[in-house]
Amino acid sequence: MLITNKIEINVQGPNIKYYIDKGYNNIKVGDIIIIDIKDLPIGSHTKVEVMCDCCGIIKNTFYFTYNKYIKDSNYFCNKCNIQIRNKTNLEKYGVEFVLNNCDIKQKSNKTNLEKYNNIIPQKSDIFKRK
Ligand SMILES: [Zn+2]
Repeated sequence: MLITNKIEINVQGPNIKYYIDKGYNNIKVGDIIIIDIKDLPIGSHTKVEVMCDCCGIIKNTFYFTYNKYIKDSNYFCNKCNIQIRNKTNLEKYGVEFVLNNCDIKQKSNKTNLEKYNNIIPQKSDIFKRK
């Protein structure tokens, strides 16, 4: 979950229109304003404080990274994300790591053989030419 709810923004030429459109009036280039986090563009590289919805660890991350990794409005740290992925793989495929599943490995090898003429694409002539 996102902990930061307000953030200081330095008003600059490229973003002034954006914030005026969001309702922040009487601002000029060079002002430092406090905005609601929901008004920050989702692709912003501003650092925000977030908490893992699984283990509760608090960390700082870029706002765009937070937006990239939220799933069903939940945010998970790397450690929990791996555990959740492994659990999902176990439920879906019967193994924690997908490439440990023979069917998936065979299918991957078959595709690589057809596409690259080698089960390891990096070792194929086609791959070396790229
Ligand atoms: Zn966690």
